[in-house]
Amino acid sequence: MCGISGYIGKKEGLQIVLGNLRKLEYRGYDSAGVAFFNLGANAEIIKTVGKLDNLERALRGKRSLSATAAIGHTRWATHGAPNQVNAHPHSDCRGEIFLVHNGIIENYQDLKSELIGKKHRFRSQTDTEVLTHLVEEYGFEWALKKIVGAYAIALINKKEPQKLYIARLGSPLVVGVGEKEYYIASDPTALAGLVKKVIYLKDGQRGVLSLGGLEIGPARPKIEKLDIDPEQAQKGHFPHFMLKEIFEGPEVLRSALRGRLSADKGTVKLGGLEGVTDKLKNIKKLEILACGTSYYSGLAGELLFEELTNLPTEVMLASEYRYAKHPIKKGTAALLISQSGETADTLAALRKANHQKNLTLGIVNAVGSSIARETVAGVYNHAGPEIGVASTKAFLSQLGVLALMALYLSPKKTAAHREIMRELAILPEKIKMVLAQSGKIKQLAKKYLKYKNFLYLGRGYNYPTALEGALKIKEIAYVHAEGYAGGEMKHGPIALIDRDFPTVALATQNRVYEKMLSNLEEIKARSGPILAIATVGDKKIARLANDVFYVPKTVEVLEPILNIVPLQLFAYHFGTLCGYDVDKPRNLAKSVTVE
Ligand code: GLU
Repeated sequence: MCGISGYIGKKEGLQIVLGNLRKLEYRGYDSAGVAFFNLGANAEIIKTVGKLDNLERALRGKRSLSATAAIGHTRWATHGAPNQVNAHPHSDCRGEIFLVHNGIIENYQDLKSELIGKKHRFRSQTDTEVLTHLVEEYGFEWALKKIVGAYAIALINKKEPQKLYIARLGSPLVVGVGEKEYYIASDPTALAGLVKKVIYLKDGQRGVLSLGGLEIGPARPKIEKLDIDPEQAQKGHFPHFMLKEIFEGPEVLRSALRGRLSADKGTVKLGGLEGVTDKLKNIKKLEILACGTSYYSGLAGELLFEELTNLPTEVMLASEYRYAKHPIKKGTAALLISQSGETADTLAALRKANHQKNLTLGIVNAVGSSIARETVAGVYNHAGPEIGVASTKAFLSQLGVLALMALYLSPKKTAAHREIMRELAILPEKIKMVLAQSGKIKQLAKKYLKYKNFLYLGRGYNYPTALEGALKIKEIAYVHAEGYAGGEMKHGPIALIDRDFPTVALATQNRVYEKMLSNLEEIKARSGPILAIATVGDKKIARLANDVFYVPKTVEVLEPILNIVPLQLFAYHFGTLCGYDVDKPRNLAKSVTVE
Protein backbone atom coordinates (compact mmCIF):
# COMPACT_ATOMS: atom_id res chain seq x y z
CA MET A 1 0.00 0.00 0.00
CA CYS A 2 1.17 3.52 0.67
CA GLY A 3 2.82 5.98 -1.57
CA ILE A 4 5.45 6.21 -4.28
CA SER A 5 6.28 9.50 -5.92
CA GLY A 6 8.91 10.29 -8.53
CA TYR A 7 9.98 12.85 -11.12
CA ILE A 8 12.35 13.23 -14.03
CA GLY A 9 12.39 16.57 -15.87
CA LYS A 10 13.83 20.06 -15.73
CA LYS A 11 11.81 21.28 -12.75
CA GLU A 12 12.76 21.14 -9.07
CA GLY A 13 12.33 17.39 -8.65
CA LEU A 14 12.67 17.23 -4.91
CA GLN A 15 9.86 19.73 -4.32
CA ILE A 16 7.59 17.94 -6.79
CA VAL A 17 8.23 14.58 -5.17
CA LEU A 18 7.52 16.03 -1.72
CA GLY A 19 4.37 17.79 -2.92
CA ASN A 20 3.03 14.55 -4.36
CA LEU A 21 3.88 12.59 -1.24
CA ARG A 22 1.63 15.07 0.56
CA LYS A 23 -1.18 14.22 -1.83
CA LEU A 24 -0.66 10.54 -1.11
CA GLU A 25 -0.69 11.11 2.61
CA TYR A 26 -4.30 10.00 2.92
CA ARG A 27 -3.18 6.45 2.19
CA GLY A 28 -1.63 6.35 5.63
CA TYR A 29 2.03 5.73 6.47
CA ASP A 30 4.46 5.44 9.32
CA SER A 31 7.67 6.86 7.86
CA ALA A 32 8.84 8.61 4.71
CA GLY A 33 11.94 9.26 2.65
CA VAL A 34 13.40 10.63 -0.57
CA ALA A 35 16.46 10.11 -2.75
CA PHE A 36 17.68 12.79 -5.17
CA PHE A 37 20.75 14.33 -6.75
CA ASN A 38 21.71 17.55 -4.97
CA LEU A 39 23.14 20.72 -6.47
CA GLY A 40 26.62 19.26 -6.08
CA ALA A 41 25.45 16.29 -8.23
CA ASN A 42 25.82 13.94 -5.27
CA ALA A 43 23.10 11.44 -4.47
CA GLU A 44 21.36 12.09 -1.16
CA ILE A 45 18.96 9.94 0.75
CA ILE A 46 16.93 11.34 3.64
CA LYS A 47 14.48 9.33 5.71
CA THR A 48 12.45 10.13 8.80
CA VAL A 49 9.97 8.35 11.03
CA GLY A 50 6.46 9.74 11.41
CA LYS A 51 4.77 12.54 9.55
CA LEU A 52 5.97 14.25 6.38
CA ASP A 53 6.56 17.40 8.43
CA ASN A 54 9.59 15.64 9.91
CA LEU A 55 10.91 14.84 6.46
CA GLU A 56 10.34 18.39 5.28
CA ARG A 57 12.20 19.71 8.29
CA ALA A 58 15.13 17.40 7.55
CA LEU A 59 15.15 18.63 3.96
CA ARG A 60 14.98 22.34 4.70
CA GLY A 61 17.28 24.29 2.39
CA LYS A 62 18.01 21.29 0.19
CA ARG A 63 17.41 21.38 -3.55
CA SER A 64 17.80 18.91 -6.35
CA LEU A 65 19.81 19.29 -9.50
CA SER A 66 17.86 20.02 -12.65
CA ALA A 67 17.46 17.26 -15.25
CA THR A 68 18.02 14.48 -12.75
CA ALA A 69 15.56 12.03 -11.27
CA ALA A 70 14.12 12.05 -7.74
CA ILE A 71 12.04 9.48 -5.86
CA GLY A 72 10.05 9.50 -2.63
CA HIS A 73 8.05 7.07 -0.51
CA THR A 74 5.61 6.92 2.34
CA ARG A 75 5.91 3.54 4.00
CA TRP A 76 3.35 1.36 5.71
CA ALA A 77 5.58 -1.25 7.25
CA THR A 78 4.93 -4.86 6.39
CA HIS A 79 8.34 -6.37 7.12
CA GLY A 80 10.39 -4.77 9.88
CA ALA A 81 9.40 -2.12 12.39
CA PRO A 82 8.58 1.41 11.26
CA ASN A 83 11.94 3.05 11.99
CA GLN A 84 14.43 5.16 10.08
CA VAL A 85 16.61 2.30 8.87
CA ASN A 86 13.63 0.41 7.48
CA ALA A 87 12.11 3.48 5.82
CA HIS A 88 12.53 3.72 2.04
CA PRO A 89 14.45 4.48 -0.19
CA HIS A 90 16.81 1.56 0.29
CA SER A 91 20.25 1.34 -1.16
CA ASP A 92 22.72 -1.31 -2.34
CA CYS A 93 26.13 -2.09 -0.75
CA ARG A 94 27.91 0.60 -2.74
CA GLY A 95 25.33 3.31 -2.16
CA GLU A 96 24.72 3.72 -5.88
CA ILE A 97 21.24 2.37 -6.35
CA PHE A 98 18.24 3.91 -4.57
CA LEU A 99 14.90 2.24 -4.64
CA VAL A 100 11.37 2.60 -3.27
CA HIS A 101 8.86 -0.22 -3.21
CA ASN A 102 5.21 -0.77 -2.35
CA GLY A 103 4.08 -4.31 -1.77
CA ILE A 104 5.61 -7.49 -0.44
CA ILE A 105 8.47 -9.63 -1.76
CA GLU A 106 7.34 -13.09 -0.71
CA ASN A 107 10.56 -14.98 -1.38
CA TYR A 108 12.78 -12.36 0.27
CA GLN A 109 14.14 -14.77 2.89
CA ASP A 110 15.55 -17.16 0.28
CA LEU A 111 16.90 -14.29 -1.81
CA LYS A 112 18.46 -12.66 1.23
CA SER A 113 20.32 -15.85 2.16
CA GLU A 114 21.51 -16.19 -1.42
CA LEU A 115 22.74 -12.58 -1.48
CA ILE A 116 24.41 -12.80 1.92
CA GLY A 117 26.22 -15.83 0.48
CA LYS A 118 27.49 -13.50 -2.23
CA LYS A 119 28.77 -11.08 0.45
CA HIS A 120 26.03 -8.48 0.24
CA ARG A 121 25.58 -6.47 3.42
CA PHE A 122 22.04 -5.79 4.61
CA ARG A 123 21.09 -2.86 6.81
CA SER A 124 17.34 -3.18 7.27
CA GLN A 125 14.80 -5.82 8.22
CA THR A 126 12.64 -5.11 5.19
CA ASP A 127 11.77 -7.43 2.37
CA THR A 128 12.43 -4.49 0.05
CA GLU A 129 16.17 -4.30 0.61
CA VAL A 130 16.74 -7.57 -1.25
CA LEU A 131 15.66 -5.73 -4.38
CA THR A 132 18.49 -3.21 -4.20
CA HIS A 133 21.10 -5.94 -3.79
CA LEU A 134 19.49 -8.02 -6.51
CA VAL A 135 19.72 -5.09 -8.91
CA GLU A 136 23.34 -4.56 -7.85
CA GLU A 137 24.08 -8.23 -8.52
CA TYR A 138 22.01 -8.94 -11.62
CA GLY A 139 20.69 -5.65 -13.06
CA PHE A 140 17.13 -4.36 -13.06
CA GLU A 141 15.54 -6.78 -15.54
CA TRP A 142 17.00 -9.93 -14.00
CA ALA A 143 16.25 -8.80 -10.48
CA LEU A 144 12.56 -8.57 -11.41
CA LYS A 145 12.64 -12.08 -12.80
CA LYS A 146 13.86 -13.47 -9.49
CA ILE A 147 11.23 -11.99 -7.21
CA VAL A 148 7.86 -13.40 -6.27
CA GLY A 149 5.25 -11.14 -4.76
CA ALA A 150 3.58 -7.81 -5.33
CA TYR A 151 5.36 -4.64 -6.18
CA ALA A 152 5.44 -1.15 -7.54
CA ILE A 153 9.05 -0.06 -7.80
CA ALA A 154 10.90 3.15 -8.65
CA LEU A 155 14.68 3.21 -8.84
CA ILE A 156 17.40 5.73 -9.51
CA ASN A 157 21.07 5.02 -10.08
CA LYS A 158 24.06 7.26 -9.40
CA LYS A 159 25.59 6.13 -12.68
CA GLU A 160 22.55 7.24 -14.68
CA PRO A 161 21.16 10.31 -12.89
CA GLN A 162 18.89 11.14 -15.81
CA LYS A 163 16.95 7.93 -15.68
CA LEU A 164 14.05 6.74 -13.59
CA TYR A 165 13.39 2.98 -13.61
CA ILE A 166 9.91 1.69 -12.85
CA ALA A 167 8.06 -1.63 -12.62
CA ARG A 168 4.70 -2.89 -11.51
CA LEU A 169 3.14 -6.20 -10.47
CA GLY A 170 0.15 -6.15 -8.19
CA SER A 171 0.68 -2.74 -6.58
CA PRO A 172 -0.48 0.35 -8.46
CA LEU A 173 1.81 2.76 -10.31
CA VAL A 174 0.85 5.56 -12.68
CA VAL A 175 3.10 7.56 -15.00
CA GLY A 176 2.16 11.18 -15.62
CA VAL A 177 3.27 12.25 -19.09
CA GLY A 178 4.26 15.92 -19.39
CA GLU A 179 6.34 17.97 -21.85
CA LYS A 180 9.82 16.43 -21.64
CA GLU A 181 9.08 15.37 -18.10
CA TYR A 182 7.51 12.41 -16.32
CA TYR A 183 5.91 12.00 -12.95
CA ILE A 184 5.16 8.76 -11.19
CA ALA A 185 2.71 8.13 -8.37
CA SER A 186 0.86 5.30 -6.69
CA ASP A 187 -2.41 7.01 -7.35
CA PRO A 188 -3.45 9.17 -10.31
CA THR A 189 -5.07 11.68 -7.98
CA ALA A 190 -1.59 12.87 -6.99
CA LEU A 191 -1.02 13.88 -10.62
CA ALA A 192 -4.20 15.87 -11.04
CA GLY A 193 -3.39 19.45 -12.01
CA LEU A 194 0.17 18.49 -13.04
CA VAL A 195 -0.38 16.53 -16.24
CA LYS A 196 -3.22 15.82 -18.63
CA LYS A 197 -1.97 12.45 -19.85
CA VAL A 198 -1.21 9.30 -17.87
CA ILE A 199 -0.18 5.71 -18.34
CA TYR A 200 -1.65 3.24 -15.88
CA LEU A 201 1.10 0.65 -15.72
CA LYS A 202 -0.22 -2.87 -16.15
CA ASP A 203 0.98 -5.88 -14.18
CA GLY A 204 4.27 -7.04 -15.60
CA GLN A 205 5.08 -3.75 -17.30
CA ARG A 206 8.40 -2.10 -16.55
CA GLY A 207 10.66 0.44 -18.13
CA VAL A 208 12.72 3.56 -17.91
CA LEU A 209 11.78 7.23 -18.10
CA SER A 210 14.25 9.89 -19.18
CA LEU A 211 14.30 13.38 -20.64
CA GLY A 212 14.52 11.80 -24.05
CA GLY A 213 11.35 9.78 -23.71
CA LEU A 214 10.01 6.58 -22.25
CA GLU A 215 10.62 2.92 -22.88
CA ILE A 216 8.01 0.66 -21.35
CA GLY A 217 7.38 -3.01 -22.10
CA PRO A 218 6.71 -5.79 -22.74
CA ALA A 219 3.13 -4.67 -23.39
CA ARG A 220 2.92 -1.35 -25.22
CA PRO A 221 1.99 1.46 -22.87
CA LYS A 222 -1.36 3.09 -23.43
CA ILE A 223 -1.58 6.85 -22.91
CA GLU A 224 -4.90 7.94 -21.43
CA LYS A 225 -6.49 11.22 -20.52
CA LEU A 226 -6.35 12.13 -16.84
CA ASP A 227 -9.74 13.36 -15.81
CA ILE A 228 -9.56 14.05 -12.11
CA ASP A 229 -10.52 17.16 -10.28
CA PRO A 230 -7.55 17.99 -8.01
CA GLU A 231 -10.09 18.88 -5.32
CA GLN A 232 -11.14 15.30 -4.78
CA ALA A 233 -7.59 14.00 -4.81
CA GLN A 234 -7.54 12.89 -1.20
CA LYS A 235 -9.69 9.80 -1.23
CA GLY A 236 -9.24 8.83 -4.83
CA HIS A 237 -12.64 8.92 -6.48
CA PHE A 238 -14.40 7.91 -3.27
CA PRO A 239 -16.28 10.50 -1.22
CA HIS A 240 -15.20 8.88 2.08
CA PHE A 241 -12.40 6.70 3.39
CA MET A 242 -14.98 4.30 4.73
CA LEU A 243 -16.39 3.62 1.27
CA LYS A 244 -12.92 3.42 -0.23
CA GLU A 245 -11.92 0.88 2.39
CA ILE A 246 -15.06 -1.21 1.94
CA PHE A 247 -14.24 -1.31 -1.76
CA GLU A 248 -10.69 -2.42 -0.95
CA GLY A 249 -12.20 -5.65 0.46
CA PRO A 250 -11.27 -7.93 -2.47
CA GLU A 251 -7.70 -6.63 -2.56
CA VAL A 252 -7.34 -6.82 1.19
CA LEU A 253 -8.39 -10.45 1.19
CA ARG A 254 -5.96 -11.16 -1.64
CA SER A 255 -3.14 -9.55 0.34
CA ALA A 256 -3.97 -11.68 3.37
CA LEU A 257 -3.78 -14.84 1.25
CA ARG A 258 -0.81 -13.86 -0.90
CA GLY A 259 2.13 -16.21 -0.49
CA ARG A 260 0.22 -18.14 2.17
CA LEU A 261 -2.58 -20.05 0.51
CA SER A 262 -1.94 -22.43 -2.31
CA ALA A 263 -5.41 -23.70 -3.18
CA ASP A 264 -4.17 -25.93 -6.01
CA LYS A 265 -1.70 -27.74 -3.82
CA GLY A 266 -4.02 -27.69 -0.84
CA THR A 267 -1.46 -26.07 1.44
CA VAL A 268 -1.29 -23.10 3.78
CA LYS A 269 2.01 -21.54 4.80
CA LEU A 270 2.16 -19.06 7.65
CA GLY A 271 5.73 -17.88 8.08
CA GLY A 272 4.89 -16.05 11.29
CA LEU A 273 3.85 -19.28 13.01
CA GLU A 274 6.64 -21.53 11.77
CA GLY A 275 8.80 -20.83 14.80
CA VAL A 276 6.15 -22.24 17.13
CA THR A 277 4.87 -25.16 15.07
CA ASP A 278 5.82 -27.75 17.68
CA LYS A 279 4.24 -25.80 20.50
CA LEU A 280 1.07 -25.35 18.47
CA LYS A 281 0.79 -29.10 17.99
CA ASN A 282 0.56 -29.54 21.73
CA ILE A 283 -1.92 -26.85 22.69
CA LYS A 284 -5.13 -28.04 24.28
CA LYS A 285 -7.13 -24.88 24.20
CA LEU A 286 -7.18 -21.57 22.37
CA GLU A 287 -8.39 -18.36 23.98
CA ILE A 288 -9.16 -15.52 21.59
CA LEU A 289 -8.91 -12.09 23.22
CA ALA A 290 -10.01 -8.92 21.47
CA CYS A 291 -12.27 -5.85 21.56
CA GLY A 292 -14.99 -4.40 19.32
CA THR A 293 -14.94 -5.52 15.70
CA SER A 294 -11.90 -7.72 16.34
CA TYR A 295 -13.88 -9.48 19.07
CA TYR A 296 -16.61 -10.26 16.55
CA SER A 297 -14.10 -11.64 14.08
CA GLY A 298 -12.85 -13.71 17.03
CA LEU A 299 -16.35 -15.15 17.50
CA ALA A 300 -16.31 -16.31 13.90
CA GLY A 301 -12.77 -17.59 14.57
CA GLU A 302 -14.04 -19.72 17.43
CA LEU A 303 -16.49 -21.48 15.11
CA LEU A 304 -13.78 -21.93 12.50
CA PHE A 305 -11.21 -23.38 14.89
CA GLU A 306 -13.65 -25.77 16.51
CA GLU A 307 -15.02 -26.94 13.17
CA LEU A 308 -11.79 -27.23 11.22
CA THR A 309 -9.28 -28.22 13.88
CA ASN A 310 -11.23 -29.69 16.81
CA LEU A 311 -9.35 -27.30 19.04
CA PRO A 312 -11.50 -26.17 21.98
CA THR A 313 -11.68 -22.41 21.60
CA GLU A 314 -13.08 -19.67 23.78
CA VAL A 315 -13.46 -16.00 22.93
CA MET A 316 -13.30 -13.35 25.62
CA LEU A 317 -13.49 -9.59 25.58
CA ALA A 318 -9.99 -8.42 26.38
CA SER A 319 -11.37 -5.84 28.80
CA GLU A 320 -13.09 -8.61 30.79
CA TYR A 321 -10.30 -11.14 30.56
CA ARG A 322 -7.75 -8.75 32.01
CA TYR A 323 -9.61 -8.56 35.34
CA ALA A 324 -11.20 -12.01 35.40
CA LYS A 325 -10.20 -14.71 37.81
CA HIS A 326 -9.34 -17.22 35.21
CA PRO A 327 -7.99 -20.69 35.97
CA ILE A 328 -4.55 -21.00 34.44
CA LYS A 329 -4.43 -24.18 32.42
CA LYS A 330 -1.29 -25.59 30.91
CA GLY A 331 -1.37 -25.94 27.17
CA THR A 332 -3.52 -22.87 26.59
CA ALA A 333 -2.58 -20.49 23.81
CA ALA A 334 -3.93 -16.94 23.66
CA LEU A 335 -4.69 -15.33 20.31
CA LEU A 336 -4.87 -11.54 20.38
CA ILE A 337 -6.60 -9.71 17.52
CA SER A 338 -6.12 -5.98 16.97
CA GLN A 339 -6.00 -3.83 13.84
CA SER A 340 -3.76 -1.14 15.33
CA GLY A 341 -1.81 -3.50 17.58
CA GLU A 342 -2.10 -0.83 20.25
CA THR A 343 -5.59 -1.45 21.68
CA ALA A 344 -5.02 -0.86 25.39
CA ASP A 345 -7.31 -3.61 26.72
CA THR A 346 -5.99 -6.18 24.25
CA LEU A 347 -2.43 -5.26 25.11
CA ALA A 348 -3.18 -5.66 28.82
CA ALA A 349 -4.79 -9.04 28.13
CA LEU A 350 -1.68 -10.05 26.18
CA ARG A 351 0.58 -9.06 29.06
CA LYS A 352 -1.52 -11.09 31.44
CA ALA A 353 -1.36 -14.11 29.13
CA ASN A 354 2.40 -13.69 28.76
CA HIS A 355 2.71 -13.45 32.52
CA GLN A 356 0.78 -16.71 32.84
CA LYS A 357 3.28 -18.27 30.44
CA ASN A 358 0.63 -19.00 27.82
CA LEU A 359 1.84 -19.22 24.25
CA THR A 360 0.70 -15.88 22.80
CA LEU A 361 -0.17 -15.33 19.15
CA GLY A 362 -1.32 -12.23 17.33
CA ILE A 363 -3.35 -11.18 14.32
CA VAL A 364 -2.31 -7.58 13.83
CA ASN A 365 -2.40 -5.13 10.94
CA ALA A 366 0.13 -2.53 12.08
CA VAL A 367 3.65 -3.92 11.78
CA GLY A 368 5.96 -3.28 14.69
CA SER A 369 3.07 -2.28 16.99
CA SER A 370 3.11 -3.21 20.67
CA ILE A 371 0.96 -6.33 20.30
CA ALA A 372 2.97 -7.50 17.30
CA ARG A 373 6.17 -7.09 19.31
CA GLU A 374 5.01 -8.66 22.54
CA THR A 375 3.30 -11.78 21.17
CA VAL A 376 5.48 -14.86 20.74
CA ALA A 377 4.34 -15.42 17.15
CA GLY A 378 1.67 -14.18 14.80
CA VAL A 379 0.31 -13.34 11.42
CA TYR A 380 0.11 -9.88 9.90
CA ASN A 381 -2.99 -8.79 8.02
CA HIS A 382 -1.15 -6.75 5.38
CA ALA A 383 -4.43 -4.88 4.87
CA GLY A 384 -2.75 -1.50 4.51
CA PRO A 385 -3.71 1.45 6.65
CA GLU A 386 -7.30 1.76 7.73
CA ILE A 387 -8.24 5.39 8.10
CA GLY A 388 -12.01 5.32 8.52
CA VAL A 389 -12.63 5.11 12.26
CA ALA A 390 -15.19 2.31 12.00
CA SER A 391 -13.34 -0.82 10.96
CA THR A 392 -14.39 -2.41 7.68
CA LYS A 393 -11.59 -3.86 5.60
CA ALA A 394 -9.65 -4.98 8.67
CA PHE A 395 -12.63 -7.16 9.68
CA LEU A 396 -12.58 -8.93 6.31
CA SER A 397 -8.87 -9.40 6.59
CA GLN A 398 -9.09 -10.77 10.13
CA LEU A 399 -11.69 -13.31 9.02
CA GLY A 400 -9.45 -14.32 6.12
CA VAL A 401 -6.43 -14.77 8.40
CA LEU A 402 -8.49 -16.71 10.97
CA ALA A 403 -9.61 -19.08 8.22
CA LEU A 404 -5.98 -19.50 7.12
CA MET A 405 -4.89 -20.15 10.70
CA ALA A 406 -7.62 -22.73 11.23
CA LEU A 407 -6.60 -24.47 8.00
CA TYR A 408 -2.96 -24.27 8.99
CA LEU A 409 -3.65 -25.84 12.37
CA SER A 410 -5.83 -28.66 11.08
CA PRO A 411 -3.71 -31.77 11.20
CA LYS A 412 -5.38 -33.49 8.25
CA LYS A 413 -6.58 -31.74 5.13
CA THR A 414 -9.88 -33.32 4.18
CA ALA A 415 -11.93 -32.73 1.04
CA ALA A 416 -13.89 -30.13 3.02
CA HIS A 417 -10.68 -28.29 3.91
CA ARG A 418 -9.67 -28.28 0.28
CA GLU A 419 -12.99 -26.91 -0.78
CA ILE A 420 -12.62 -24.08 1.73
CA MET A 421 -9.20 -23.30 0.27
CA ARG A 422 -10.58 -23.16 -3.25
CA GLU A 423 -13.43 -20.94 -2.12
CA LEU A 424 -11.09 -18.60 -0.24
CA ALA A 425 -9.10 -18.11 -3.42
CA ILE A 426 -12.14 -17.02 -5.43
CA LEU A 427 -13.87 -15.10 -2.66
CA PRO A 428 -12.38 -11.72 -3.72
CA GLU A 429 -14.34 -12.02 -6.98
CA LYS A 430 -17.53 -12.76 -5.07
CA ILE A 431 -16.98 -9.74 -2.82
CA LYS A 432 -16.72 -7.67 -6.00
CA MET A 433 -20.15 -8.90 -7.05
CA VAL A 434 -21.59 -7.61 -3.78
CA LEU A 435 -19.78 -4.29 -4.08
CA ALA A 436 -21.17 -3.83 -7.58
CA GLN A 437 -24.62 -3.59 -5.97
CA SER A 438 -23.77 -0.71 -3.67
CA GLY A 439 -26.42 1.38 -5.44
CA LYS A 440 -29.11 -1.13 -4.56
CA ILE A 441 -28.07 -1.04 -0.91
CA LYS A 442 -28.28 2.73 -0.99
CA GLN A 443 -31.90 2.44 -2.15
CA LEU A 444 -32.60 0.05 0.71
CA ALA A 445 -30.96 2.43 3.18
CA LYS A 446 -33.24 5.20 1.89
CA LYS A 447 -36.27 3.01 2.43
CA TYR A 448 -35.30 2.10 5.99
CA LEU A 449 -34.09 5.57 6.95
CA LYS A 450 -37.25 6.31 8.90
CA TYR A 451 -36.60 3.62 11.51
CA LYS A 452 -34.85 4.38 14.78
CA ASN A 453 -34.21 0.82 15.98
CA PHE A 454 -33.03 -2.36 14.30
CA LEU A 455 -32.64 -5.99 15.21
CA TYR A 456 -29.81 -7.80 13.40
CA LEU A 457 -30.40 -11.52 13.45
CA GLY A 458 -28.20 -14.46 12.49
CA ARG A 459 -27.39 -18.01 13.53
CA GLY A 460 -24.16 -19.99 13.39
CA TYR A 461 -21.56 -18.21 11.29
CA ASN A 462 -24.08 -15.47 10.62
CA TYR A 463 -24.36 -14.61 14.31
CA PRO A 464 -21.00 -12.78 14.63
CA THR A 465 -21.86 -11.09 11.33
CA ALA A 466 -25.15 -9.87 12.82
CA LEU A 467 -23.27 -8.46 15.82
CA GLU A 468 -20.76 -6.67 13.60
CA GLY A 469 -23.51 -5.38 11.28
CA ALA A 470 -25.37 -3.90 14.24
CA LEU A 471 -22.17 -2.36 15.57
CA LYS A 472 -21.50 -0.66 12.21
CA ILE A 473 -24.86 1.08 12.05
CA LYS A 474 -24.55 2.17 15.69
CA GLU A 475 -21.12 3.64 15.05
CA ILE A 476 -21.83 5.30 11.73
CA ALA A 477 -25.49 6.27 11.76
CA TYR A 478 -26.12 6.59 15.51
CA VAL A 479 -29.04 4.23 15.17
CA HIS A 480 -29.82 1.83 17.96
CA ALA A 481 -29.32 -1.73 16.75
CA GLU A 482 -29.00 -5.04 18.54
CA GLY A 483 -27.26 -8.07 17.17
CA TYR A 484 -28.87 -11.31 18.30
CA ALA A 485 -28.63 -15.02 17.71
CA GLY A 486 -31.78 -16.11 15.89
CA GLY A 487 -32.67 -18.73 18.47
CA GLU A 488 -32.44 -16.23 21.29
CA MET A 489 -35.06 -13.92 19.87
CA LYS A 490 -37.93 -15.71 21.52
CA HIS A 491 -36.19 -15.26 24.88
CA GLY A 492 -36.69 -11.52 24.93
CA PRO A 493 -36.31 -9.26 21.93
CA ILE A 494 -39.44 -10.67 20.29
CA ALA A 495 -41.32 -8.42 22.73
CA LEU A 496 -40.03 -5.43 20.77
CA ILE A 497 -41.19 -6.57 17.36
CA ASP A 498 -43.88 -4.49 15.68
CA ARG A 499 -44.24 -2.60 12.42
CA ASP A 500 -41.78 0.07 13.57
CA PHE A 501 -39.02 -2.31 14.55
CA PRO A 502 -37.32 -3.82 11.49
CA THR A 503 -35.06 -6.86 11.42
CA VAL A 504 -32.00 -7.23 9.26
CA ALA A 505 -31.88 -11.00 8.84
CA LEU A 506 -28.83 -12.96 7.73
CA ALA A 507 -30.56 -15.88 6.10
CA THR A 508 -28.14 -17.47 3.66
CA GLN A 509 -28.63 -21.11 2.70
CA ASN A 510 -26.55 -22.99 5.23
CA ARG A 511 -27.05 -25.63 7.93
CA VAL A 512 -29.32 -23.39 9.99
CA TYR A 513 -31.23 -21.84 7.10
CA GLU A 514 -34.55 -23.54 7.90
CA LYS A 515 -34.23 -22.55 11.57
CA MET A 516 -33.65 -19.00 10.50
CA LEU A 517 -36.75 -19.06 8.33
CA SER A 518 -38.80 -20.11 11.36
CA ASN A 519 -37.46 -17.12 13.27
CA LEU A 520 -38.46 -14.88 10.41
CA GLU A 521 -41.98 -16.37 10.40
CA GLU A 522 -42.22 -15.33 14.04
CA ILE A 523 -41.27 -11.79 13.11
CA LYS A 524 -43.62 -11.64 10.16
CA ALA A 525 -46.49 -12.85 12.34
CA ARG A 526 -45.91 -9.74 14.47
CA SER A 527 -45.76 -7.38 11.47
CA GLY A 528 -42.04 -6.72 11.86
CA PRO A 529 -40.47 -5.47 8.60
CA ILE A 530 -37.70 -7.78 7.36
CA LEU A 531 -34.69 -6.97 5.23
CA ALA A 532 -33.00 -10.28 4.43
CA ILE A 533 -29.51 -11.05 3.21
CA ALA A 534 -29.99 -14.27 1.26
CA THR A 535 -28.30 -16.61 -1.17
CA VAL A 536 -28.71 -15.80 -4.81
CA GLY A 537 -31.50 -17.89 -6.34
CA ASP A 538 -33.42 -18.30 -3.07
CA LYS A 539 -37.11 -17.92 -3.90
CA LYS A 540 -38.54 -18.93 -0.54
CA ILE A 541 -37.14 -15.95 1.27
CA ALA A 542 -38.91 -13.41 -0.92
CA ARG A 543 -42.22 -14.65 0.44
CA LEU A 544 -41.17 -13.88 4.00
CA ALA A 545 -39.05 -10.76 3.74
CA ASN A 546 -40.14 -7.29 2.70
CA ASP A 547 -36.81 -6.77 0.97
CA VAL A 548 -34.05 -9.16 -0.04
CA PHE A 549 -30.44 -8.49 -0.87
CA TYR A 550 -28.80 -11.42 -2.62
CA VAL A 551 -25.20 -12.52 -2.11
CA PRO A 552 -23.33 -15.24 -4.04
CA LYS A 553 -23.19 -18.73 -2.60
CA THR A 554 -20.06 -19.73 -0.72
CA VAL A 555 -19.07 -22.39 1.83
CA GLU A 556 -20.68 -21.79 5.21
CA VAL A 557 -17.48 -21.23 7.19
CA LEU A 558 -16.53 -18.34 4.90
CA GLU A 559 -19.97 -16.72 4.80
CA PRO A 560 -19.07 -13.93 7.26
CA ILE A 561 -16.47 -12.57 4.81
CA LEU A 562 -19.14 -12.12 2.18
CA ASN A 563 -22.22 -11.36 4.26
CA ILE A 564 -20.72 -8.50 6.22
CA VAL A 565 -20.11 -6.47 3.06
CA PRO A 566 -23.78 -5.50 2.42
CA LEU A 567 -24.12 -4.61 6.10
CA GLN A 568 -21.06 -2.36 5.95
CA LEU A 569 -22.50 -0.67 2.87
CA PHE A 570 -25.92 -0.39 4.51
CA ALA A 571 -24.40 1.39 7.53
CA TYR A 572 -22.32 3.60 5.25
CA HIS A 573 -25.24 4.72 3.09
CA PHE A 574 -27.51 5.13 6.10
CA GLY A 575 -24.96 7.38 7.79
CA THR A 576 -24.22 9.50 4.73
CA LEU A 577 -27.94 9.86 3.92
CA CYS A 578 -28.33 11.23 7.45
CA GLY A 579 -25.55 13.70 6.65
CA TYR A 580 -23.05 12.36 9.19
CA ASP A 581 -19.27 12.42 8.92
CA VAL A 582 -18.91 8.66 8.55
CA ASP A 583 -15.11 8.78 8.61
CA LYS A 584 -15.06 10.39 12.03
CA PRO A 585 -18.09 9.25 13.98
CA ARG A 586 -18.71 11.19 17.15
CA ASN A 587 -17.09 10.02 20.38
CA LEU A 588 -15.03 7.32 18.68
CA ALA A 589 -11.27 6.98 18.21
CA LYS A 590 -9.46 4.86 15.66
CA SER A 591 -6.94 3.29 17.94
CA VAL A 592 -8.32 2.85 21.44
CA THR A 593 -5.16 3.24 23.47
CA VAL A 594 -6.91 4.00 26.73
CA GLU A 595 -8.66 1.58 29.01
N1 GLU B 1 7.16 -4.39 2.25
C1 GLU B 1 7.80 -3.11 2.27
C2 GLU B 1 8.26 -2.72 3.65
O1 GLU B 1 7.84 -3.23 4.64
C3 GLU B 1 6.97 -2.02 1.61
C4 GLU B 1 5.84 -1.54 2.45
C5 GLU B 1 4.99 -0.50 1.71
O2 GLU B 1 4.32 -0.84 0.74
O3 GLU B 1 5.00 0.67 2.16
O4 GLU B 1 9.09 -1.90 3.79
